[in-house]
Amino acid sequence: MYADHPTTSADTPVVLSLGMGIDSVAILVHWILNPASRSFPLHRLVCITAMTGEEHDRTGELMERHVLPLMREHNIRYVQLSRAGQAAHHRYSVLSDTRSPRLMHMRGPWRLSHEMRSGGTLPSVRNGRRWCSERAKGEVLDWWVNDNMPSGYTHVVGFAAEERRRALRDTAARTEKQATGKTVACVPSYPLLDQWQWDRTACAEYLRKIFGEPFPRSCCRWCPFTGATAGSRPELLQRWRQQPDAAADAIELEYTALALNPRIGAFGVGKTAIDLAREHDLTDAVAIAEQRIEAAEVWDVLEIRRIFLAKDQDPRRKGDAWRSVQVAATGSRSALLEWLARLDNGGQRNTDQYGITRLWRRRLPGPQEISYPATEWLWVLVPHGVQPKKRPGFEERWTNLHAATLF
Ligand code: SF4
Repeated sequence: MYADHPTTSADTPVVLSLGMGIDSVAILVHWILNPASRSFPLHRLVCITAMTGEEHDRTGELMERHVLPLMREHNIRYVQLSRAGQAAHHRYSVLSDTRSPRLMHMRGPWRLSHEMRSGGTLPSVRNGRRWCSERAKGEVLDWWVNDNMPSGYTHVVGFAAEERRRALRDTAARTEKQATGKTVACVPSYPLLDQWQWDRTACAEYLRKIFGEPFPRSCCRWCPFTGATAGSRPELLQRWRQQPDAAADAIELEYTALALNPRIGAFGVGKTAIDLAREHDLTDAVAIAEQRIEAAEVWDVLEIRRIFLAKDQDPRRKGDAWRSVQVAATGSRSALLEWLARLDNGGQRNTDQYGITRLWRRRLPGPQEISYPATEWLWVLVPHGVQPKKRPGFEERWTNLHAATLF
């Protein structure tokens, strides 16, 4: 006998977004070991994972040791996916689709860090959503589901009992996507929250009992959101201590992002990964990152221009920011330092505490003096790889505003 949860009709598939973390793995294991916890036979279950390409190695090891054997034993379909490229038209790659999974395919043809490097950016929240997660996971899962699932299937997500707000946002996003024809209609289901009332601690304890060892949360090796709160910081630091490479990845990505925008570190305004690593004596990680940055043979000088618009036409309130990034010169680091020196005719060059050299043509005034719209203009030295980017209409706006604000 199966329980009434989640409610599914006749033969519709049940898709579980298996993020490889504590919550979704707890659902899967509980469904397998306690048939009364589900309303469907396991042959209707499809587990799907979209790889960011940046997971901690241990996540893959634990999946192979504990979860895949259960899936094989119970003949559960497991689909592993990855985004196939940067642009939406590249769509997704199927890394594995089998009822007998033996291997985790933790990296596909695309990795989130490629996107960060080429954009000179770091994960952040846009319009209330973590856009990195949307690009690496959300879009990929939507594309695959659209191609493979019938309308009315059940989609299960592992939001824990304390994550009601995230579940509401997820339902609203699905409703909107379905209404606009972006995704096939589904019935969302959140059993941890709606049926079992399992919070994150309960899930972790459950898995520890079943597997005989802790099952860590799944996330990118350098995910800034895992270390953003005081509660999650010790876990992040412990992982970085055990895996200095992971911390070095964070510091290296942050170096380029900081070069483009010195105001924002990996953990927010003025909160950098490198400072965190130094404060906690993660000397191996800092040394690896510094050595990698030093070893970069090809560097670029980027010309960066920004426009900060006024919000609601109020000169005291900052509105949208527009950015133009162009490659001004390419070569060795030493040659480009000389290139910058030649451009500097007024002592506007400086090297900050992170070793990043910039030449400022126009800086923003301090918070007391600033009046929007405002402009900023600089050249900065970074390891090669950031792609040029300019919003349509930027030049016209820049010319008008810069002329008006410069003189
Ligand atoms: S784990 Fe963190 S960095 Fe990775 S996709 Fe999710 S939110 Fe973004």
